[in-house]
Amino acid sequence: MGQRSRILTQIVGFPGFKVMDVTFKNEDGEVVEQRGETPPPSCSLEITLRRRWSPRCAKCGAIGGRRHEQLAPRRWRDLPWAGREVTLVYAPIRVDCKRCRGHSVEQLSWAEPHQRQTKRFQQHVALDAFSMPVLHVATKYGLDWSTVRRAECAAIERWERTRPQPTLTKVGIDEKWLGRRHRGKHKFVTIISDLESGEPVWWGYGRSEVTVATWLASLLREQKEAIRVVAADMHRPFFNAIRGDDVLAKVPFVHDPFHVIKRAGEAVSELRRSIFFRAGPTLRAVGCGTRWLVLRPWERVKEDDRKRLTQVFRLNGKLARAYQVLEELRLVLRAPDRASITAGLMHILRRTERRANIPMRKLHDSLGRHWHEIIALAEHRPPTGRIEALNNNWETLVRRGRGYRDHQHLFRKLRFMVANPVRTDDGVKRFLALGLPTPHRRAS
Ligand SMILES: [Zn+2]
Repeated sequence: MGQRSRILTQIVGFPGFKVMDVTFKNEDGEVVEQRGETPPPSCSLEITLRRRWSPRCAKCGAIGGRRHEQLAPRRWRDLPWAGREVTLVYAPIRVDCKRCRGHSVEQLSWAEPHQRQTKRFQQHVALDAFSMPVLHVATKYGLDWSTVRRAECAAIERWERTRPQPTLTKVGIDEKWLGRRHRGKHKFVTIISDLESGEPVWWGYGRSEVTVATWLASLLREQKEAIRVVAADMHRPFFNAIRGDDVLAKVPFVHDPFHVIKRAGEAVSELRRSIFFRAGPTLRAVGCGTRWLVLRPWERVKEDDRKRLTQVFRLNGKLARAYQVLEELRLVLRAPDRASITAGLMHILRRTERRANIPMRKLHDSLGRHWHEIIALAEHRPPTGRIEALNNNWETLVRRGRGYRDHQHLFRKLRFMVANPVRTDDGVKRFLALGLPTPHRRAS
């Protein structure tokens, strides 16, 4: 191996393979002669590789084995080199494997089987697609939109394979709307998540008892017995499904504060709408655009907005009282013990019992129906932040994807985003390792 070839081999960095040839090609794929001059930046680099060590079976990893068939040269897109597009060229063989008796294509340290990009390139694409719309990533690398998606899928799949599978002890059940543009039979999906890590672990179409039962059927008895608490929104079928299971019939079931507050917020919104529907000009003038304001906790309302809210509340006592109830509910759900939650909830129920106020009375009935599951918050407090994060990530994804058609992909991406692989040291290591070549021991 000449010096030039040795340096190039070291930079390209795939153990067991050496660089045979490097050529510059222009946009039309024609070879550009160098003759000591620097080729224009639009020229791409093509690196031809050759194997130095014995081949490995891609199926079982066995070293050696005779050549079964020589295949035509294949091309893989690699990371750009000093801004130049790089393509790897290699002609693999089919190995006649003595161990598994297969004839699979030899194992390549830079790419997974059937992929047209190298692992390290896919890893970069995935990392970009993690925070950028697919179209932007496609433009950045000059790729097709579907190629980006496939590369991203391959990287996430590889990442999923390296992850530890912790035992599920705290379960969150949540329903998600698939968006206005979704035309399928089901308008909702049910997502089961691990509340310890916040990661979604299972998804299914629909939001009925059957959907949750399908998930339960996929669990082993030991897995069910490991579950300590189930947290869900106030959707009754979820409760029924869990109670209907013979192992989980007695497991503590709570409504997480996030969803209880959301339900109360809906009641206040409805009340606000009904008030403004018949409002006079004064109230309309100050109350315009307070839709989101009335849902915000007082401590997070800015000074100017506080003034506006106070004005609205002075004009309409009904709305003021509803806002107070919402504030009170936030405090009650944070109360430290069963006695104070019970007392607080009783007080709220008394304040919302008037039948004339329809939205608040509906909230009253709903809180009454879910009494036990809310009180249980005293003993079992699910991490609300996790549920909120999952919710926010979902909304970001659905909005950015403008209605995903491939829901398996959407779910994978959600898991990837929630898990945030770069949050812990170990996660960073595993994530960076995705792009590395497969460890190859020298064949003897
Ligand atoms: Zn084999």
